Amino acid sequence: MNSFSYTRASDVSSALRAVTADRDAVFIAGGTNLIDLMKENVARPPHLVDITRLPLNRIEELPEGGLRLGALVTNADTAYNAEVERRYPILSRAILSGASAQLRNMATNGGNLLQRTRCYYFYDTATPCNKRDPGAGCSAINGFNRIHAILGASDQCIAVHPSDMCVALAALEAVVRVTGKDGERTIPFADFHRLPGDTPNIDTTLRPDELVTSIDLPRKGFADHYAYLKVRDRASYAFALVSVAAALELDGDTITETRLALGGVAHKPWRDADAEAMLNGIKATKDHFDAVGEAIVRSARGFGHNTFKIELARRAVVRALQHAARVRRTS
Ligand code: SF4
Repeated sequence: MNSFSYTRASDVSSALRAVTADRDAVFIAGGTNLIDLMKENVARPPHLVDITRLPLNRIEELPEGGLRLGALVTNADTAYNAEVERRYPILSRAILSGASAQLRNMATNGGNLLQRTRCYYFYDTATPCNKRDPGAGCSAINGFNRIHAILGASDQCIAVHPSDMCVALAALEAVVRVTGKDGERTIPFADFHRLPGDTPNIDTTLRPDELVTSIDLPRKGFADHYAYLKVRDRASYAFALVSVAAALELDGDTITETRLALGGVAHKPWRDADAEAMLNGIKATKDHFDAVGEAIVRSARGFGHNTFKIELARRAVVRALQHAARVRRTS
């Protein structure tokens, strides 16, 4: 049995003090990933700092027209919030495609960003894994790697980020607000998660003493033309093999802005600015969408069991763009 101590923080300052005092302490909120990691001996934090009572559980309007999602708002309350559904339906759809109703009721927005990969070997402490034990090796590269990365991987790790919510947040270009002992700062969503490189044990650019306080959505929500397409092994309660958040602005049938983010293919939600730019100022046609799909997977690499994901990703991009071009909200 692994013993640990437990503190319940009453405000942000006391929570930060508690993790600063013990460099191995970790925050816990919904616990939907951390408790699994502790049960499997993947994580053995000596000290848990419970942040569920902190005042970070509201969804608020931002002065410039966006929406602030508190880090402790649950995934369910976010997905069913009337303003999120109306102004950011791509986010609502993405959240509701993930996990189960029970998990979404417990999981928080901050925790969703910080959840760890579902690579089988990461959870199997009998196997080498650079993310769990730096320098040990990667069991997936020459192992069973059906769910693993085709883009942005390294020779140290080919894991993927498991979140659906984060794929939509990447497409919306959300901003993560964090606070730490040196004060507050904001992190553009594209910079929050990392590619594995030589340090796959580090998932994000969050510093050890920092706490996510909110996720800010910009005003533009792409509510008229969007799609979240998730391809998975079964119809519910399964992680994405490939997912695509596609958002378009159209002037007639001419595309004026494109956002595309892919999940299930890389260590972070995957964006390709050059591929997105290919569509701007041209007609929304399948031929043009096909060209974008080809461009996005041009640098993709399979590792055997997951090579099918290259063609799957190409087709999913085309399908999501076709759907986004058709959707027009009626209410
Ligand atoms: Fe570990 Fe990453 Fe390799 Fe999976 S892919 S075994 S998480 S190093």
